[in-house]
Amino acid sequence: MDEEKKRLAEATLAQIAKEVAVCQRCMLHHSRKLAVPGEGPVDSEIMFIGEGPGFHENEQGRPFVGAAGKYLEELLANINMRREQVFIGNVVKCRPPNNRDPLPDELAACSDYLERQIQVINPKVIVTLGRYSMARFLPNAKISDVHGQSFRIKGRLVVPMFHPAAALHQPSLKISVERDFARLPELISKANESTVVKEEKPPDNKSEPTQLSLF
Ligand code: URA
Ligand code: SF4
Repeated sequence: MDEEKKRLAEATLAQIAKEVAVCQRCMLHHSRKLAVPGEGPVDSEIMFIGEGPGFHENEQGRPFVGAAGKYLEELLANINMRREQVFIGNVVKCRPPNNRDPLPDELAACSDYLERQIQVINPKVIVTLGRYSMARFLPNAKISDVHGQSFRIKGRLVVPMFHPAAALHQPSLKISVERDFARLPELISKANESTVVKEEKPPDNKSEPTQLSLF
């Protein structure tokens, strides 16, 4: 992404965050303290999508800052990545009361914000964390069947994984999530290769080789 494009894209992300902060499209706005639009670089190659803000996220207006967030940071560290390098968001931007599951009408009302974020970030890989974000891309999939597999959807790789909060409390899910994470660097390279092939571009995109060297 060149500098001018990047500035414009950052402005778009900021605009989305501004709208989310005052959004009243669903009932969740009544109980929220701070909306959590999501955060990360606008040119992230990889985007993590969780479910919705919990207690700490609602207090701070930032995604994955509680126990699940600490674990997500550990999972990222295992593959030599830091949270600052990836975009982290949620399918609903406001905390459901008592951390209940988001309702269909809340998911629908909030959907457009995430869609716009995906369009502007244009990640190569989307990792869904938990059932609700998986269902957005793979409505009929069962997470226990498909976790860790990659699906090409609208030109991106979508990789469903168990939610880190669930994995924290269930040793079997923890093993799965750690194994699935370990495969991410390979999937990111695969996504890079297939993008180049698909667009039939000569290797003139200078940002890709440098970003790849991160892994
Ligand atoms: N769990 C989520 O799904 N999202 C967050 O932002 C935090 C915890
Ligand atoms: Fe708006 Fe989404 Fe918050 Fe509902 S959850 S009020 S749609 S930002």
